[in-house]
This record gives sequence, structure tokens and C-alpha cells, in this order.
Amino acid sequence: MKHINNRTIIFILLVTVNIIGTIILCSCGNTESADLPWNLILVNSKNPIPKNYEVTLTELSNGNTVDERIYPELQQMFDSARSAGIYPMVSEAYRTSEEQQAMMDEKIQEFINDGYSKRKAKNLAKNWVAAPGTSEHELGLALDINSDGSLSSDSEVYGWLAENAYKYGFILRYPPGKENITGIDYEPWHYRYVGQEAASEIFERQICLEEYLSGT
Ligand SMILES: [Zn+2]
Repeated sequence: MKHINNRTIIFILLVTVNIIGTIILCSCGNTESADLPWNLILVNSKNPIPKNYEVTLTELSNGNTVDERIYPELQQMFDSARSAGIYPMVSEAYRTSEEQQAMMDEKIQEFINDGYSKRKAKNLAKNWVAAPGTSEHELGLALDINSDGSLSSDSEVYGWLAENAYKYGFILRYPPGKENITGIDYEPWHYRYVGQEAASEIFERQICLEEYLSGT
């Protein structure tokens, strides 16, 4: 101990703190789906749904189903829209991966019917339909919301949602101008539940979910 002076001890301490700090930073910077709370799970072409993902569903009046945890706020959002004279309708919600596969097969067949080779048809279909395992609809947290067809127009519904959905924890998931990050064209009807805190920040900063999760 005689040869170890205070400076050496401080140096060793600093190195140790640095190593621990690096380990902590590495684990915090990781945005893999498995580490995120359920409402912030990221699903896109590069981040498929975790294997064995489980969801408890609630059925809506028109037969669509959603994750039961988002139902109360969805109901509040629709009540609020209706009291403002806007009449939305959930046209698509939870989809099983089999249903997603069926959508993909149908799209491929359309291109084959248009005269494309099977290989070319498969490539073209990928631009229109998310591959099974990579659609947010398979989480039960995504909704396609349109007008009910008679009392409001689609554009009135999209306009109201764009201004108000964040108050209920929903975000416009594929906003215009973010196509290069989300990989999906602007979809004014597709909303995703992330919870009110994240939705408010995403709305105010006009960012997309990928940017929010990567801390940009
Ligand atoms: Zn959708």
C-alpha cells in the first residue's frame, strides 16, 4: 500500500467510474423494442413485432378489435369528436399476421393479374402492404380512422384528428415530410397509440415516432 499514492487511487477510481458510465449509457441508448414500455413499442420494416407478442383485445361496436388498454382513451377521443360535430369511424384496427399475409397475397395477385412476373409482383406489393410481422396493426395499437360516410367527410375527420388526437395519446404515425424516416407515405387516417406524454411531445415538436425514440 505504501507505493500506491492518492493520485493512483483517484486515477483508478476515475477509470472505474468511466467504465460503469459507458455501460449505463450503452444500455440507455438502446431503443430495441424489447426494452420499451408497451405503448412505445416500435414496429416498422426494420423492427418486426417481438416473437410471442401477446395482446388482450376489446371488440368495438363495428366488430374491429383493439388492445384493451387503449380503449378508454379511444372512446373519449370519439366522444369528443362527436361533440364537436365530427363523426369518425375505425375502419381497420387489429390484424393477425395471417390477415396481414392475406393482404399481401391479394396485392401480389393484383400485380400478377396486371401482367407482372411473380417476382416483380412480390417486389411491387411490398411498396403497398407491410410484410407480415412488420405492420403496427398486428399490435392492436394502430387504427385507420375515416369518416362514418354520411355525417362528416374524410378530410373533416383527418383535420380534427391531426389537431386533437394527441390529447388522447394518439399520433399521426406517418406524417408528411417524414417518409424518408418512417419508410411509409403520408397516411392521414393511420393513428397509433403511444400514450399522452409521448403524443404531446411528438405533436408539439412535429416529429415521428422513430425520431422520438432515438432522442432526436
Ligand atoms: Zn393503417
